[in-house]
Amino acid sequence: MQTRNLINNQWIDADSGATIDVLDPATDERIAVIPSCGAAETRRAIEAAAAALPEWRSWTAEERAVPLRRLAQLMVEHRERLARLMTSEQGKPLSEARGEIDYARSFIAWAAEEGKRVCGETIPASTRDKRILVLRQPVGVAAAITPWNFPSAMITRKMGPALACGCTMVIKPSELTPLSAFALGELAIEAGIPAGVVNIVTGDAPAIGAELCANPTVRKLSFTGSTAVGRILMRQGAENLTRLSLELGGHAPFLVFDDADVEAALSGAMASKFRNTGQTCICANRFYVQDGIYDEFVAGLEAQLGSLRVGRGVDEGVQVGPLINDAAMDKVESQVADARDKGGRVRAGGARVAVAGCANRFYAPTLLEGFTRDMTIATQETFGPVAPVQRFTHESQAIEAANDSEFGLAAYFYSRDASRLMRVAEALEYGVVGANDGAPSTAQAPFGGVKHSGFGREGGRYVMHEYLETKYVSWGL
Ligand code: ADP
Repeated sequence: MQTRNLINNQWIDADSGATIDVLDPATDERIAVIPSCGAAETRRAIEAAAAALPEWRSWTAEERAVPLRRLAQLMVEHRERLARLMTSEQGKPLSEARGEIDYARSFIAWAAEEGKRVCGETIPASTRDKRILVLRQPVGVAAAITPWNFPSAMITRKMGPALACGCTMVIKPSELTPLSAFALGELAIEAGIPAGVVNIVTGDAPAIGAELCANPTVRKLSFTGSTAVGRILMRQGAENLTRLSLELGGHAPFLVFDDADVEAALSGAMASKFRNTGQTCICANRFYVQDGIYDEFVAGLEAQLGSLRVGRGVDEGVQVGPLINDAAMDKVESQVADARDKGGRVRAGGARVAVAGCANRFYAPTLLEGFTRDMTIATQETFGPVAPVQRFTHESQAIEAANDSEFGLAAYFYSRDASRLMRVAEALEYGVVGANDGAPSTAQAPFGGVKHSGFGREGGRYVMHEYLETKYVSWGL
């Protein structure tokens, strides 16, 4: 298993020899020691990406698709190993880790094909002696900074399209989950992606981030993480006018109307809320349920979340794993305590769960009734397995409450009324809307947010724009 950084197909240590321990969040066991690099190594990674760029971008899209397809195939062959590695550093249940490898693979496979459909245009000119050509060209060296909650997919969803468009890359994964990134780097080499096209650095995140933003060779930065860090990167990139894609925090509302299929709404709620122990940026963070269906829906939710199995992700059958670290636990506990203080009622869960032989980092799936706008859980991302529920009477109330957020990433609602489906989908101020769907993420669709959830889209043909420049050639005859 590779544990060092990748620059120009060489696996390297930090110049200083400094390291960071990687821990299994379930047990606190040290599973690896990785380099703690800074600006100097990042600069070298950028230089390697710049050196590899002329050759890589000269390949045809079909030629670039060959190693990308091979990488996708290697991910299939190494699925189980990659999934186990992910669970050991991230904690998610093995079944979810396997699902993430498939999902991560789909971004590479999709981009390999989509790269062939990056088309320019000719536009009729206004005079007879001119022709207008529009070329689409790779932006150049692209950087990616990715989070710990999807250690593989958040990388491939940037790397697949960037490489398919002809860009070369420097990737900084989260220091909490770097091993999945290194494993992808190894497979990229095996797949025949040339040296310098993919580089991976870990270490001092602010120092690496500052170099990626300020270095004029980096023409594009795609970031997935918190709104706070997104703001820092945008400020730092201002001098260099670095092009940004920012996929930031979310606070997804989940609306259930009286005319919903309650079974479908429940399974959507469970998928959206408890996947990855509630640690996704599109997790339902607040539920609004209409009066007529409230009792049935909430009773159903209580029954279903009560049957979830909490434990170590490596144990088959486990559905809810540990939180990523103690800070995550503090946040969940403080949100629940705050809700209780302000009149919320914990109907199920609401406490840690002891798991034999493990760290004290497991939180029971929790159902919280009667949440109100003044509670921290109503406005701050929870990133934990807590479902706060509130009643509503009128559709307009629910929409107003749903949109009352600084965030705008994902929103969900359940209804069987076709008119309402269109009306509510249009009214929700969110980049992704699950209309009778609790799991909307997929490689071919545009994923991204509005408001403080950021900007830019990942997935499908939309993501290709993020890694391309549009050049207009006015051709005099
Ligand atoms: P989360 O709350 O999900 O951990 P963060 O925004 O803190 O989100 O982390 C997402 C990614 O951003 C990680 O790779 C992290 O190391 C990186 N990061 C954190 N702080 C900075 C920073 N100041 N500059 C650049 N990257 C950063």
